Amino acid sequence: MTAIFANSTLVNLVKTDTFNGIVSNIETYQPQLNVIEKYWASWYLFMDNDKLATGLLFFLLHEFMYFFRCLPWFIIDQIPYFRQWKIQPTKIPSMKEQWYCFKSVLLSHFLVEAIPIWTFHPMCERLGITIQVPFPTIKRMALEIALFFVLEDMWHYWAHRLFHYGIFYKYIHKQHHRYAAPFGLAAEYAHPAETMSLGFGTVGMPILYVMYTGNLHLFTLCVWITLRLFQAIDSHSGYDFPWSLNKFLPFWAGAEHHDLHHHYFIGNYASSFRWWDYCLDTESGPESKVSREEKMRRRAEKNVKKNI
Ligand SMILES: [Zn+2]
Ligand SMILES: [Zn+2]
Repeated sequence: MTAIFANSTLVNLVKTDTFNGIVSNIETYQPQLNVIEKYWASWYLFMDNDKLATGLLFFLLHEFMYFFRCLPWFIIDQIPYFRQWKIQPTKIPSMKEQWYCFKSVLLSHFLVEAIPIWTFHPMCERLGITIQVPFPTIKRMALEIALFFVLEDMWHYWAHRLFHYGIFYKYIHKQHHRYAAPFGLAAEYAHPAETMSLGFGTVGMPILYVMYTGNLHLFTLCVWITLRLFQAIDSHSGYDFPWSLNKFLPFWAGAEHHDLHHHYFIGNYASSFRWWDYCLDTESGPESKVSREEKMRRRAEKNVKKNI
């Protein structure tokens, strides 16, 4: 029996054969639930198998959100008007490149990511990640997601930096750097080993969080994964608009930050924020190179003066 309600007798009360029937029964017996909670509960009741319901939900959510978010970038690439905001305006991805990338990403979704997605629910149960309605408060979800963004960014910085060393780059990360001028679809174009290890930041950090707190809702995870997908796709979009988030939040990385990484193959290792690259002096691009050299020169002069 599904664990969607804390009170299991409710399950027998609202369950019928059709999805719409379940939705209307929930409206009758649980009118206090909001519309998303009603459909969420109806999905689990209709599927009548929590493992399958979670697996399918995550897989479909990932596929839909990924390609849905890539589509506007694909359209923008076809419209010359938008070139004024393209970071590398002479490098527009060809149809052939985009088609190849699309096929590779889709294949890797089915082959690599399908397995962890199907084994996700049993792990959630063991860890205490709940599927029950009602959902946690928006404030709680927002705080948890903000924390996941910070933790994922930290993991991404160090793992990505490691991927730029010798054999890790040669045999694994080089695949992702096929495109020196990235585009939305290229966000998940990577070697399976990279998808797994960088993906740990997205899935592993919430797991560590729930191991510590014993409390996390699966819906919070769905929202977090969707936002993280949007961040990854947008940072590969190749466009920096006057209304991009990094113009309002200076510590937000955005496309400008990650485009430089693809362009110069070095520096700007973090995913969402700029603070790691700023503090550890690994910012990418010619301007950062000049300021880094200037800093080194000043340090050397200081040392010479000290020794005189
Ligand atoms: Zn890289
Ligand atoms: Zn990239």
